[in-house]
Amino acid sequence: MSAAPWRLDLPEFFVPPECREMIRAGALVAVSHSGGKDSQAMTILLSRFVPHGQLLFVHAPLGEVEWPGTIEHIEATIPPGAPLILAPVASGKTLLERVEARGRWPSAGVRWCTSDFKRTPIERELRRYLKAHPRFGGRIVSAMGMRAAESPARAKREAWNRNARNSRAGRQWFDWLPIHGLSTAEVFRVIAGAGQTPHWAYASGMSRLSCSFCILASRADLRRAAELRPGLYRDYAALERRIGHTLSPSRVPLPALTGVPVPPSAAETGV
Ligand code: SF4
Repeated sequence: MSAAPWRLDLPEFFVPPECREMIRAGALVAVSHSGGKDSQAMTILLSRFVPHGQLLFVHAPLGEVEWPGTIEHIEATIPPGAPLILAPVASGKTLLERVEARGRWPSAGVRWCTSDFKRTPIERELRRYLKAHPRFGGRIVSAMGMRAAESPARAKREAWNRNARNSRAGRQWFDWLPIHGLSTAEVFRVIAGAGQTPHWAYASGMSRLSCSFCILASRADLRRAAELRPGLYRDYAALERRIGHTLSPSRVPLPALTGVPVPPSAAETGV
């Protein structure tokens, strides 16, 4: 590394002094990667100054509800040879099975989908990885791609924070939001500047790469997802009908919200 490797050509990108110390001390830098543009830009930036032997990538796979090709996209865009681990939910249940069992979709206020399907499994796998690799000295910087521009709630988050829940004797854990200050345009510029392209769903008209149908998605994204993934759209619409609760907090069912007719199933068409 050069003398000031964290001075990247991006005024909004800032590496807190405590974070630099952790990296210098040999901490594991674990990058939570969703496959989306923010994770990809964060990967590109961190790979420029974090020694590659200290990098780990972790993805919480969401199975059928995530965009096809997500894991392949992550594999193709992280530094060659960098470890990628998957953090599946322990119960083995899918997101749609959990919704059906609860009889309700998650909401912005009660967002159990993120905590149960992403944060908890990722933290579990990182604790295991750290324990299995004593060369990191129990030090971990957990990097996540949340940005202030995404929502008022995310704007309020500290970009550098000691994770008290996961820190204990022998384990020092900090959460870091390296691209908290970046705009959406800067994120796309970082990706293009590295000669990479974002996941194919963006070029197909999606503005975010979350679950294909997300509780927080805009109407335009839900409409485009319905066109791109008709089979999954049919499953979501059928689940809404069965449980009598809508994915959208507007309480408008998906077919009315998107204007996209629900395609008939194979059983209905006799195919
Ligand atoms: S992408 Fe949306 S629906 Fe999926 S886990 Fe995150 S908040 Fe929940």
